[in-house]
Formats: sequence, structure tokens, C-alpha cells
Amino acid sequence: MEPLRPRVTPLAPERFGLQVTIDQETHELLQRARDLLGHQNPTGEIAPVIKRALELLVARLEKEKFATTKHPGTSRPSASARHIPAAVKRAVRERDGDRCTFVSDSGMRCGARNRLEFHHLEPVARGGQATTENVRLVCRAHNQHEAERAFGAGFMERKREEARM
Ligand SMILES: [Zn+2]
Repeated sequence: MEPLRPRVTPLAPERFGLQVTIDQETHELLQRARDLLGHQNPTGEIAPVIKRALELLVARLEKEKFATTKHPGTSRPSASARHIPAAVKRAVRERDGDRCTFVSDSGMRCGARNRLEFHHLEPVARGGQATTENVRLVCRAHNQHEAERAFGAGFMERKREEARM
């Protein structure tokens, strides 16, 4: 992932200055959000508006990505072997701490927090199940790496070619 583009300057312990250029539409959204927050932000500062917006955004994206829900145990039984039930996704995500679990031969854990995917230790193609024991979080690069290790680079290349046809 690219480094953060906006200028973020540490000002004091746990305090950062943030400088970004925004377009007209974003500016209007910011004003509107500030107005709507009203009593919750009586001084009309921007920082609490950004914080609230990010809290909502992260909750929404996490929900989309990991099927986070306040009502566990309501997911339907899986139709395909590749489907990972929401309860398993939640458990895996919690256990792995929302980070890539890949460990290199020299013992270094990747720990990436972005582009995470669910990886089957025993591949579905070989009868691997969508259970908490058989699924773990890995970043996209390491998911690909593991697939190539399991099936061989040639096999994965053919798969990609098939997918293009
Ligand atoms: Zn990784």
C-alpha cells in the first residue's frame, strides 16, 4: 500500500497535525457532517467530525469485509465448499488479530493489515474445510504465495490463463 499522502505531523504525544487538500464536494460533506453533529460537537471543530466519520467508515468496511455482525450464529449453512461461514470468519479474524499470519522461513511474521484474505491451510481442492482450524488470515501477496507453494507456480499460471479465457 502507498504511504499516507496527506501531511501528518506529530505535534505532541498523541497529537497530530493533518494537512490535506479536499475538493468542493468533500468540503460540503464536511460542513454538512459538522452541522448534523451539532450538539455532540458544540465548538464546531473539524477533528471530532473526522473521527466520527472514520469510526463509521471503518465499522462499515469491516462489516463488508469480514461479515462482522452483532447477531452471531445466524448464518445459513454453506452451499459451496469454498464458502466460509460468517462465524468462522469472525473467529479467524479475532484469533489472527486482523493481520497477515504468514511466517517466513526465517521466522518473521508478515503482520500486514491491508488486503487481507481468508486462506485455507488444507486447500478446498484437496478436501480442506471452512473451519476455524483450517482457515487463517493472510495478505493477498501471501495468499498467492501459499497457493503457488501448494499447487506449483505452473499450475497457478494455467489457472490464471483459464480464468482469462
Ligand atoms: Zn503477508
